[in-house]
Amino acid sequence: MKNISVIGSGTMGNGIAHVFSLKGFNVSLIDIAEDRLTKALATIDKNLTRQVDKGGISESDKQKALSSISTFTDMKEGVAQADLIVEAATENVDLKLKIFKDLDGLAKPEAILASNTSSISITKIASVTSRPDKVIGMHFMNPVPVMKLVEVIRGYDTSDKVTADIMALSKTLGKIPVEVNDYPGFVANRILMPMINEAIYTLFEGVGGVEEIDTVMKLGMAHPMGPLQLADFIGLDVCLSILRVLNDGFGNPKYAPCPLLVNMVQAGHLGVKSGSGFYKHTRGSKELVVADQFKS
Ligand code: NAD
Repeated sequence: MKNISVIGSGTMGNGIAHVFSLKGFNVSLIDIAEDRLTKALATIDKNLTRQVDKGGISESDKQKALSSISTFTDMKEGVAQADLIVEAATENVDLKLKIFKDLDGLAKPEAILASNTSSISITKIASVTSRPDKVIGMHFMNPVPVMKLVEVIRGYDTSDKVTADIMALSKTLGKIPVEVNDYPGFVANRILMPMINEAIYTLFEGVGGVEEIDTVMKLGMAHPMGPLQLADFIGLDVCLSILRVLNDGFGNPKYAPCPLLVNMVQAGHLGVKSGSGFYKHTRGSKELVVADQFKS
């Protein structure tokens, strides 16, 4: 595999383009609007510069990586040469089904179609294509250039060969792939999201405040970040949509999202991306300040 197309240039898409470009792949980055692609390239540039400053890569590695990324707003053009397409568009079932149906007609017949979805069924996504054996989950973690794990999700019909190819490719990227089966939330979010939801319930019921809950989990469980801070980082809308997938997929009320989470998303308090969630987030500041609504 040499030519990689990445669909969606947001938080995850630009990180995925970043890691492929650094390993010498030709990357086509696709989004619906020019301004999003311009912003994504600026983010990749900034993150590569940080790696140069830390001595991890050279200035010429950075320039080579940047020059291997082309941008497209036309999906047909952007995927024409691809050996592998990694979809990292917004977490929405209907959107992903449409993208994969279109991709099936546009990509080379032998191309592998991967999704970076956090929770949507790979089997369902594969079912709208004529190549379910070549559809797979390639779930990178955020921030992609830093986090080692790739959760590789086999759909019901994903072939052994495609799974082996994606496992090997993930290692080429310097990542550690783990192969799992396709059930709601896979492994990562099946375990993480109920913990985050329970932390929100703990806040909702007044058992502890934002700082108390996060401090207990950081110091008591050696988590690098408390669950409420992590929820802000992931995006509260993303957490809510994953919990809904778990709740629908298993039909078990233990996955029902906490009403406080639903309210916060409805109010547009989405965490880091909106500037406010459980904490207040100011661009450029790393200080952890509890949001006004949760100050005692
Ligand atoms: P994001 O909102 O930051 O970016 C999504 C991008 O997709 C946007 O730039 C949007 O313009 C683009 N997009 C929407 N429709 C498109 C289309 N038809 N064609 C091309 N581009 C399109 O979202 P994100 O956080 O990067 O999440 C992307 C995917 O990665 C989701 O499936 C999400 O569940 C998954 N994911 C997210 C995280 C996380 O921590 N944010 C972690 C792992 C996986």
